[in-house]
Amino acid sequence: MTETKNIEDTDKSWKLIEKLQFIKGVGPKKAQAFQKEGFQTSYDLLTYFPRAYIDRSGSNSIKQAVLRLMKHKADNAELNFNIDDDFIFTSETTIIGQVAAIKENRYGAKRQMLKLILNDGSGASAGIIFWNRVNYFKSFFKTGMVLAVSGKPQLDNFNSITFVHPEIEVIDEEDQNIYKSGGILPKYKITENMVEARISLRTMRAIISKILQSEIKYVNETLPTELIKSLGLPEIKEAISNLHFPQSHEALRRARFRLKFEEIFYFMLRIELLRKKIISREQGIIINPKSKYARLLYSNLSFKLTDDQKKFLREAAADMQSGKPMNRLLQGDVGSGKTIAALLTILMVIENGYQCCFMAPTEILAEQHYKNICRYIEPLGLKAVLLTGGQKNSIRKEVYKDIEDGSANIIIGTHALFAGALKYFKPGLLVIDELHRFGVEQRAELIKLSRNSHLDENLIPHILVMTATPIPRTLTMTVYGDLDVSIIKTMPKNRKPIKTKIVFDSLIDKLYDFVASEIQNGRQAFIVYPLVEKSEKMELKAAVEHYEYLRTDIFPQFKLGLLHGQMHSGEKEEIMSKFLNKSYDILVATTVIEVGIDIPNASVIVIEDSERFGLSQLHQLRGRVGRGNSQSYCFLVTKDKFKYNFKSGSDENSERNSAIIRLKTIQDTTDGFKIAEVDLKLRGPGDLLGTKQSGLPDFKYIDLINDVGIIEEAKRQASIILSEDEDLRLPKHEVIRREIYKRYRQDKTFLEIA
Ligand code: ADP
Ligand code: MG
Repeated sequence: MTETKNIEDTDKSWKLIEKLQFIKGVGPKKAQAFQKEGFQTSYDLLTYFPRAYIDRSGSNSIKQAVLRLMKHKADNAELNFNIDDDFIFTSETTIIGQVAAIKENRYGAKRQMLKLILNDGSGASAGIIFWNRVNYFKSFFKTGMVLAVSGKPQLDNFNSITFVHPEIEVIDEEDQNIYKSGGILPKYKITENMVEARISLRTMRAIISKILQSEIKYVNETLPTELIKSLGLPEIKEAISNLHFPQSHEALRRARFRLKFEEIFYFMLRIELLRKKIISREQGIIINPKSKYARLLYSNLSFKLTDDQKKFLREAAADMQSGKPMNRLLQGDVGSGKTIAALLTILMVIENGYQCCFMAPTEILAEQHYKNICRYIEPLGLKAVLLTGGQKNSIRKEVYKDIEDGSANIIIGTHALFAGALKYFKPGLLVIDELHRFGVEQRAELIKLSRNSHLDENLIPHILVMTATPIPRTLTMTVYGDLDVSIIKTMPKNRKPIKTKIVFDSLIDKLYDFVASEIQNGRQAFIVYPLVEKSEKMELKAAVEHYEYLRTDIFPQFKLGLLHGQMHSGEKEEIMSKFLNKSYDILVATTVIEVGIDIPNASVIVIEDSERFGLSQLHQLRGRVGRGNSQSYCFLVTKDKFKYNFKSGSDENSERNSAIIRLKTIQDTTDGFKIAEVDLKLRGPGDLLGTKQSGLPDFKYIDLINDVGIIEEAKRQASIILSEDEDLRLPKHEVIRREIYKRYRQDKTFLEIA
């Protein structure tokens, strides 16, 4: 993209504009504080958008806040969970009102409390409570003051609303006038550094207002005019002005929409460009999907495929016949039967004379898949080999030979499949199990692997990625934007939903009795235990101690096995296979059993200290049982203290709140997609997928939970534009090229492609 280099130099809005210290009212000291926050120029401040607004829109009246909380409380009661009524998962609320009264209470000699009563004429009042610095607040607040109060409100027993140590802004007369006349005031995040340099909220408003007046004219449009017109978006200047000082709620809504749209549009454009310019130009191996092997295997199965499994097979077959490489993601909840679906796909490819690779994230899983797959394909006269990092050299040599001369049809393994010294015969399909992301790097490895084989120079193997972590649709579109998606929604028919229950520590004896009775009925149980210690040594010690306790004190009549992370893969394998062949009744385990392992006879999983696990972890763990056709159980053991009161909104408490929400969610739903949505809300997309693996940027404006519509529209528009002008050569798309350069200038490989 040589042309964009020139654009870079002429783009004022980018280098922009005025150094902050030359703006009137800023000066060196404030400029320095701004610099510490990463603001160099006036443009940086122009795009420092308010984090909230103060206005009179209905939702901010005290009355309405009360009604909302009452609804929350009612919704929560339905969940039929035995915790204090106080526990309400509220979002931040801002109310505005006048101080009507100031009351002081003393509790004993030491404890003091100050309470402000706020009215706003809506027919309800709010209490603002201070436990700390009471004397300071007492002298600061006066009746008659108008305050904007932001925080997480609570509802007391009389359905009256209170805030404890909320964020408060005193609204002076001038602002009151704006606000009374229906205006909207911006609220900026003011950091410590800014406070020290005497940049208050008021100063900030004044500075930004000044910059808007003198500099907004230099800001260049960042979206193509055609797009702005067809979607009815505000122009960039109008949007920026309205984000700072909205003319109306409607203007603010439109400005926000544009900001979100633009952010996700350029992200989607990048994905679509990659798709168009790389993936769709690759040549795929043409696979005839008619397969005797697949038909034979299918006729020997003890079950019928579900409709979703069949649909996936049709989709995969169509992909592989198309002449382009398949790039497909198969999503399906734990136990939905992805493996057999993948295996049938594999058989089609083998029948056409190619090898298939099956990659698992851990050695245990690779070994399990290897065993299962061997069982299925040996009767067909086909051969699978296992390739893991921990293998002996002599075995490895043998395996390498089978892979090279083509006598191995399926190669199952860990990342060792990509080993540099390895020569494949004719790789036709790579299946990747339980991976969060198949990114650019893995694609490069695959291409390297196929170049080092007897495959024709220009052919790229098909790719099938499978994940049991269901992901909300917004994330599928963004994280896996370059893959086509198949979903297995319905579970095989014979499955009974797993009964899940939260158990508090004080009832654990009863729970252990229940576990014992299940074992007496011939079943097996997992007892899972979180890794919590600071060092590996201590961790191991804790796991061993707990195991000893269970073995000698609780379950002396049964055989117990211990599985933990410090074991090497051989040991783990041995323990797992002992559990599988019933040499153990109970497997005490740390999270290593999390993914994929299949023990059909296990009917109970007890998860201790379950509040320490994340949602998707809990869901995965639960998926270890319920794989046969009898009733299975999952018990989430947690501390009694979670039953009781937790008042006030300190961090510790919100940690507890989210622990309770996690446990309740797992108890109340077995739908992995719903669970994933809650997880996304609690943790955000970065944490959900692991920021690194996900490859997602930190979106500033788009909300990956709620903005499905915007994301879809952006994707649609990006692909329309590229189908008209793949190289973005048209003059009307110059603005897009400039933005791509600006946004992705760190990403050299991408710029070369674009
Ligand atoms: P996952 O999707 O979690 O990888 P698996 O592929 O391990 O699930 O399948 C779980 C179990 O369900 C396996 O024992 C498999 O044989 C069985 N299974 C797969 N498909 C069906 C089906 N359509 N009906 C009944 N059982 C099935
Ligand atoms: Mg699986």
